[in-house]
Amino acid sequence: MIQELVADVIIIGGGLGGTSAALAAAKAGMKVVVTEETDWIGGQLTSQAVPPDEHRWIESFGCTASYREFRNRVRDYYKRNYPLNEQALNDPELNPGNAWVSRVAHEPKVALQVLEDMLAPYVNTRRIQVLLNTRPVHCETAGDQVASVTVEKTDGQTRYKLRGAYFLDATETGELLPLAGAEYVSGAEARSETNEPHALEQADPLDMQSITHVAAVEYIPDGNFTIPKPDSYDFWHEYKPSFS
Ligand SMILES: Cc1cc2nc3c(=O)[nH]c(=O)nc-3n(C[C@H](O)[C@H](O)[C@H](O)COP(=O)(O)OP(=O)(O)OC[C@H]3O[C@@H](n4cnc5c(N)ncnc54)[C@H](O)[C@@H]3O)c2cc1C
Repeated sequence: MIQELVADVIIIGGGLGGTSAALAAAKAGMKVVVTEETDWIGGQLTSQAVPPDEHRWIESFGCTASYREFRNRVRDYYKRNYPLNEQALNDPELNPGNAWVSRVAHEPKVALQVLEDMLAPYVNTRRIQVLLNTRPVHCETAGDQVASVTVEKTDGQTRYKLRGAYFLDATETGELLPLAGAEYVSGAEARSETNEPHALEQADPLDMQSITHVAAVEYIPDGNFTIPKPDSYDFWHEYKPSFS
């Protein structure tokens, strides 16, 4: 079964970038379709459990209005729904996870709730349509332009042909690039290609950021939930990669 959907902006990938692009387009009066491969929007902030890590002046400047709103809403969510003490309740810069890597470390499920709330006024007026569990399988091009993207439900049952004036690839992995037959480069380019003095002698397309395993940690006030030390705990606790 294939259904055709038409919007002003089609966004493939519902991570933080895709979601904020959808919000901005909807606020500007456009109709938007966002497709997301998983069943959670938010990408690295939610399903990948990466805390937002910003510069040290983030609370005073260097932040878009919508990202400021997101951060405020996260803090507000904790203040309304968690058993916080007076000090935390009155802290305008509350860091729920008290982390040093992020000034607003929080649980993935809270980020999801806040993002869904921010989209709600537009989702409920059909300005934004979010298609979860869908990934692009085909891209139709005309010259150098994308004419349509066909996405398929991950159960393989339903397809949507998406037409629009603008197509945004917000997948972080550039899923549309090969589908659209666009030219692209991945990894590290050779010095001869860019003239960058610090570039590698030879190009290495697989030279990319290494994988980090992230775990969401929850605070439960009562009880001791410490597990026995896993195998090689002491080794990994002390291990520092050489980064050479
Ligand atoms: C451990 C770690 C630490 C980091 N630290 C920093 C840092 O300190 N500073 C910094 O600036 N950046 C950092 N980053 C990078 C930063 O987190 C990312 O660049 C940013 O989150 C990317 O956001 P995004 O919305 O573009 O993509 P993502 O959040 O990755 O969203 C992409 C979305 O597209 C979806 N998707 C993927 N494939 C498909 C498909 N085929 N069809 C449909 N949807 C698809 C995904 O499910 C996801 O929801 C870090 C990343 C990691 C992993």
